Amino acid sequence: MDLALTGGTVLASLDAPAFLQADVLIEGGRVKALGVAPEGLPRRDCSGCLIIPGNVCAHTHLYSALARGMPYGLEPPANFTQILQRVWWRLDRALDEETVRASALAGAMSALLSGTTTVVDHHASPNAITGSLDIIADALGELGLRSVLCYEVTDRDGPERARAGIEENRRFLAAQRPLAGGLMGAHASFTLSADTLAACVEIARDAGAGVHIHVAEDRADQRDSLARFGRRVVHRLDDAGALNDRAVLVHCVHVDDGEIAAILRSGATVAHNARSNMNNSVGRARVGRLGERVVLGTDGIGADMFAESAAAYWRGREDDLFLGFAWPLQRMAAGARMAGRTLGEPALGRIEVGAPADITVLDYPTPTPLHEGNLAGHWLFGLSARHVRDVLVRGELVVADRRLTRVDQDQLAAQARTQTERLWRRLEEIGPHEFEPAGGQQP
Ligand SMILES: [Zn+2]
Repeated sequence: MDLALTGGTVLASLDAPAFLQADVLIEGGRVKALGVAPEGLPRRDCSGCLIIPGNVCAHTHLYSALARGMPYGLEPPANFTQILQRVWWRLDRALDEETVRASALAGAMSALLSGTTTVVDHHASPNAITGSLDIIADALGELGLRSVLCYEVTDRDGPERARAGIEENRRFLAAQRPLAGGLMGAHASFTLSADTLAACVEIARDAGAGVHIHVAEDRADQRDSLARFGRRVVHRLDDAGALNDRAVLVHCVHVDDGEIAAILRSGATVAHNARSNMNNSVGRARVGRLGERVVLGTDGIGADMFAESAAAYWRGREDDLFLGFAWPLQRMAAGARMAGRTLGEPALGRIEVGAPADITVLDYPTPTPLHEGNLAGHWLFGLSARHVRDVLVRGELVVADRRLTRVDQDQLAAQARTQTERLWRRLEEIGPHEFEPAGGQQP
């Protein structure tokens, strides 16, 4: 036995919440037993703490981790396409290998310190494609964060980079890593030709991986698909063979009833990013209609899933007073199941015998009673990332007493700031991206 977490209240599952009063005994990176820790075992006192499965961020962009506070010298974007042209498609082109690594480290630090143990990432760095997923996997591995990675294939930067992106996914999907798995990344329908999309589907099929793609985030995606292919986005993806129970469809804000039916038929996961949708003013996803495979992501707004799940709840509740407190917890659990399926770890997101020991310890001195029947209320109205004391990934304590254990986090932040200055200088030299979706800017 490697370690015992003793004296805490264990939340074995988020859906439905189940509490145990037990020590968590960990061996070989997994939960070995739940019971009473024998004498003489290395132990960590968790008395008075709530021990929960580590949170999973089901969609993010670590490459945006150094964008916090970024200057913006251009005319303000007036729509979603301009946000991409003037912000994100400049930032991604400014990235080189060093800043890809610095972004991954900074993003991983934030994730772990907020109690997130797995991130599902969607990466873009058009001027540093080959090997970028290894750089990210190595950086996350150094801090001890589990991940599902992919490179976002797109035609917006020309055929050579599209091919390099496809190859980067193919190469990474064939590699075996203890803490990282992969999906087949594709940007979005409106930046993909028929041939490039077909190549992505083929790689995904060969690797047994799902396609991870932004879907109808904005109306522009639908206008483009109708103009170029005479099909709505989800049907276009379905025709191409991209829809199946391994696929991760991100946003799905502007999907109609027929597309929702196709998504539900396929068993695909839908990654909902409430704060990002609000920030980009793209509209409201009909999450209530999108079924049991709706999961939660941040779309690059950090990886604090306490904040994201609460925001998703507020956004949903604003329109629907019958949206229950349990909904965000169910979505979080679904996110862990999706990541677990991708990583071949079906018990990810649970604390049970045999499950990976990905665990967050919350120091949560609540002034009101806490039990499994009211956990959802505590999750929304009490718990937050500031309660995260310890984090374990694969049984290893990677955050202890609110500090990273494997690296000096002050030094890491200082190095990130140095890299950020370089990145922002490069950014100033890059103008708005010239790529335009078909079908025009307005509805
Ligand atoms: Zn995204």
